[in-house]
Amino acid sequence: MEEENKKIESETENEEAPITESKGKDVSGSEAPKSAFEEWIPKTELGRKVKNGGILDINTVLDEGKKIKETEIVDILISDLETDLLLIGQAKGKFGGGKRRVFRQTQKKTKEGNKPHFMTLAVTGNKNGFIGIGSGKAKETVPAREKAYRKAKLNIIKIRRGCGSWQCGCKSGHSIPFKVRGKCGSVEIELIPAPKGTGLMAEKECQKILRLAGITDIWSRTKGKTTTKINLVAACFDALKKLMKTKIKAEHYDVLGVVGGFQK
Ligand SMILES: [Zn+2]
Repeated sequence: MEEENKKIESETENEEAPITESKGKDVSGSEAPKSAFEEWIPKTELGRKVKNGGILDINTVLDEGKKIKETEIVDILISDLETDLLLIGQAKGKFGGGKRRVFRQTQKKTKEGNKPHFMTLAVTGNKNGFIGIGSGKAKETVPAREKAYRKAKLNIIKIRRGCGSWQCGCKSGHSIPFKVRGKCGSVEIELIPAPKGTGLMAEKECQKILRLAGITDIWSRTKGKTTTKINLVAACFDALKKLMKTKIKAEHYDVLGVVGGFQK
């Protein structure tokens, strides 16, 4: 028997402060990338190629559709990754819902008592066409977060940006080249190209994803139960994936100002 969403977290607890200090080794922050690189012993063929300099570009890996199994590959090939956690949990408030939280807490009832589980969603991106999201679940918050960071990196995708807004037509990569739709569960999202200066007209957690992907102007429409943030965020990621799946005619490339995922 599992009771979802049962809240036992105290209201005053701060989810960020104690976690960062409790563990010295942070997966997301690479303070000394050089020594970490030297210490890394690749376990996969792809990893070995990256370590010995056989692959220098993340595009090579993603274009060939190779599965990334080691986060170091992503860390080395995309040096300017930023990560963030998405607010997917919600404290049940007495009057109309509580504060949004990074961790979604569930409990399992056992003979020994209630066992809490924490789930969190992380997003990583370089604000320049590469984006990944991942979830992590564990008995404690720190491992849940580290798992989520890890998975976000392993799930990294390349997206196309561009300016598909007829009101703008600036031919640069501030928005997306065409409309895309994404779905997860009951939630559907449509991302629509917007002119420069529009900003990110999307739900807050989707904004985090779009920002880290390098999009600055967009309109969006949603359908379904968008209060289920996990589904909403997954639908948004699904929509972004489709930016690469649609074929663009060569003559439209310049008109739409398409910018593929590339690195600085
Ligand atoms: Zn434009």
